Parts: sequence; C-alpha cells; structure tokens
Amino acid sequence: MSENIRVRFAPSPTGPLHIGGIRTALFNYLFAKKHGGQFVLRIEDTDQNRYVEGAEDYIINALNWCKIPFDEGPGKNEKFGPYRQSERKHLYKQYADKLIAHGKAYYAFDTSEELNAHRKGHEVEGKTFIYNWHNRQKGRLVNSLVLSEEETKKKIESGEDYVIRFKSPQDETLHLNDIIRGNITIDTNVLDDKILFKSDGMPTYHLANIVDDHLMEITHVIRGEEWLPSLALHKLLYDAFDWNAPKFAHLPLILKPTGKGKLSKRDGDKLGFPVFPLEYKAPDGSVSKGYKEDGYFSDAVVNFLAFLGWNPGTEQEIFGLDQLVTDFDLAKVNKAGARFDPDKTKWFNHHYMQQQLDLDLAKQFKGSQLELADIDVNYIALVIGLIKERATFIKDFWGLSHFFFESPTDYDVKASKKAIKEGTSDILIKVSDIILGTDDFNVENLQANIKGWITTNEIGFGKVMMPLRLALVGALQGPDVFDIIYMIGKSETIERIKAFLQNISS
Ligand code: GLU
Repeated sequence: MSENIRVRFAPSPTGPLHIGGIRTALFNYLFAKKHGGQFVLRIEDTDQNRYVEGAEDYIINALNWCKIPFDEGPGKNEKFGPYRQSERKHLYKQYADKLIAHGKAYYAFDTSEELNAHRKGHEVEGKTFIYNWHNRQKGRLVNSLVLSEEETKKKIESGEDYVIRFKSPQDETLHLNDIIRGNITIDTNVLDDKILFKSDGMPTYHLANIVDDHLMEITHVIRGEEWLPSLALHKLLYDAFDWNAPKFAHLPLILKPTGKGKLSKRDGDKLGFPVFPLEYKAPDGSVSKGYKEDGYFSDAVVNFLAFLGWNPGTEQEIFGLDQLVTDFDLAKVNKAGARFDPDKTKWFNHHYMQQQLDLDLAKQFKGSQLELADIDVNYIALVIGLIKERATFIKDFWGLSHFFFESPTDYDVKASKKAIKEGTSDILIKVSDIILGTDDFNVENLQANIKGWITTNEIGFGKVMMPLRLALVGALQGPDVFDIIYMIGKSETIERIKAFLQNISS
C-alpha cells in the first residue's frame, strides 16, 4: 500500500469501553502500524444526552494500558483537530446546507407526536413506518419537498423545530464493498431518510462521522459489525458530497461464551468475568470489574482480543504486540461471530506470567501483599520460581506460598488424619536430627540424607514425607518438601516440626 494509511477509533463517551471496543481499537492500531500509518482517536460526543463524565479518560486510560496509544487525538498531535465532535460543532451545518442546496437532503418539520401517530397507524395495519421515497412527497409528512420555498423559510425563521433528512434515492442498486465481507448489493428502496442534522445545531452520528472521516483524511474505516447497516447511507453521503469514500471493514460480532447472542456489557456481572478492560465506577456508584484489576496482564488481554475474529492461519497462538503488527492482516479476519472464551484468557495470562522474570513478579507480589513488606525481594523471587507454574494471577501467589513466609497456624484436619500415624512423632524427631546434622545445607544433601535414612530403615516414604510436609505447610500441598526446608532454613524447619509435635501430642 503506497498511500498514507490513516485509521480512526471513534467511540462515543457514553460509559466504559466494552472489550469489543478495545478489539476494534486494537485492529485499527495493528492495521495502521503494519502499514506505517496513523491511528487517530476521535471522540464522537454529539449525543449530549448520553454523555457520561469520565468516559473519555476511561477510553484513553484503557488504550494506554493495552499499550495501543493513539498517534493523534484529544491533546495529542492535533493536526486535524479538534478531535472531539462537540468542539467541531460549528463545522457540520455548512455540509448539511450543501446537501440541501444540491437537492440531496431536505428539511422536515414533523413533530415527534406526528411521527408516533404515523408509526402507530402503520402498526395497526401490520406495517412498519419508514420515512422515505414512498411517502415523503405524498402530503401527509411535512417537509421542504412538499412545502414551497417560502413556507419552508417561514417555518425555520419562526423558530419551528426541524431536522435535515437525507433524500435516499429511489430505484437504485448500490454496489458496496467491505474488505472482510466482499461485495454487498443494496436496493436503495429499503433505506429510510436518515436524520443528519437537528435544529439544536447538532449533527447526528451519520453526518458528523462522514464529514470528520473526510476532513481527517481517513483511508480505512474499521469498525464493528453493528455499523454495517449504516454502510449504504455512508456511501451515499460520500457520493452526494462528491468525496472519495474510504475503504470499509466491519469486524465480526463478539458472542457470549455459549456462542449464542452478542456479548453485552451486562454479561460480565452475570457470567462472572470482566467485559471491561479497566474497572469502571459509574456515576451512580456501581462498580464493574476490569481485566486489569482482576489481575490480567495487558499482553494476555491483547493476545486474546486479537484472536476474537482474526487468526494467523497457523497453529501459533502466542502473539506479542510486535508480532501482531507484523502478522495482522484484515483479509484474515472472519465474517462469522467470534465466541468469547473466558478460560482462554486465563490460559493466556498463565502463559504471560511464566514469561516474566521472577524478580519482576516478586516486586508486583510484594507490592500487593502486606505480609511481605519486610521480606527481601530476592527471597520472594526464589519462592516465585518454585510456585509460579501453578499460578495464573499474582493474586494466586499468596495461597501457593504463604508457608515460605510464615509458619502454619493450624493443620488441615483431613490431611492430619491421613498423615499422622503411630510412630509419626518418633519419625519426625529423627528427621529433625538429620536436618540439624546436615552441615552442608542444600537441597541435594537434605534429600540424600533423609531419603538415605528412609531407605536404610525401610520406612514407607509417605510415612515420613506426609507428616513432614504437614508440619511445614499446614496442609498436604506445596512444592517439593526439600525445597521448602532449604528455603525456610534449618532453624525455622526445626521450630515448625517442634510446634507440630506439640500440637499432635496435646
Ligand atoms: N461513534 C460510533 C461508535 O460509538 C463510531 C462508529 C464508527 O466507527 O463509525 O461506535
């Protein structure tokens, strides 16, 4: 591609960004970076009724957390700015006027009561009311196509509410193209005359979106499938303005884990996994879970999002952001909806956890666990090396490792029944002696000495190792017992065995 690729992510700040929105942003970012182009963030806030305080910051924070920052947008490289549509308000009217002047749009004065009455009337007859070619000039609707120029002017000047509607063509066949879906044919007779502009001075999504994509020199529009029904109107608008249309790619829907129906914002709370990148506190005080706060690494989230609708066509599943930029291809994006699999996200998180340095994980762990405030981070790193294989999140670490940092306060009842037999005390007293007598204190020597004693005396392995583990851990779990002994040290081991012996004799 030799042209300068420019794509945009154009969310409306009506609340937190759903994970599907981040997927759209990601695919735009990958496409831009792959082709050396620009990734633009545009805030589509023309619908002031739905505006939510803080939503724009949330969007920007979420993009930054995913490490997919925009090149241009509010407050950054404002070459084509401003990037908030509310700040571009003054721009749109002239374009609506231009369409009217060229007979491509018209004023309509029908009140909402009148339109509701038309809708109801149609419903009674089992029909759907559509404002378009078949009724716009029949006289029952009030618009500048039926009123004289004079009457129209008078209405507007007297302050009557109006909208500007697009005049969809009659009896035409539109040939559209979508990079993912191929050729699409639309009969213009099924289109309604969408509202482009309102007398409150605000454009609707359709007009503002097209004007801005044109003015911002957007070359590719990559957005969710829910916007596919708008493609015909958008193409007609480009033609009406005599502008070159960008290329379009509509990404597949993200489906619920069952594969049935679209994943919605409410599914997160219902199904127990986050559907938002970051935690969101709504103005009413309610809180929705976020991937970040739930302990996911952004690399894992990005990797799993990339696979919602795209795959490289090979078996490879692990893709860092750089690798995604290299391999991403819009032509490999599927048409079919992509099933959301929360377990797969965990699988990715486990993978990215194993990739991190133990010392880095130790710092994160220490920062999240009060009990570790005074513990040497290098010691924590050694512990992590022993347990991380079984962890998916940093928050799993404490449960898997607390006994490396503090002695057990109680002993699992079921495990005690299993591990404590006749002779257990004598065995542990002997094991204590062996440990005490192991001068060159390391895992190999401890293992050789204790195992050697077990073999020589033909004692069942479990008879020794089970109570020993129980004494050190408080349960029959954890990594290799010899690793635990080595890590907590000789005297702490002896203390724990003593405490355990006291406990079982009382
Ligand atoms: N503002 C629209 C949204 O909220 C943008 C759709 C588009 O990308 O054209 O998703």
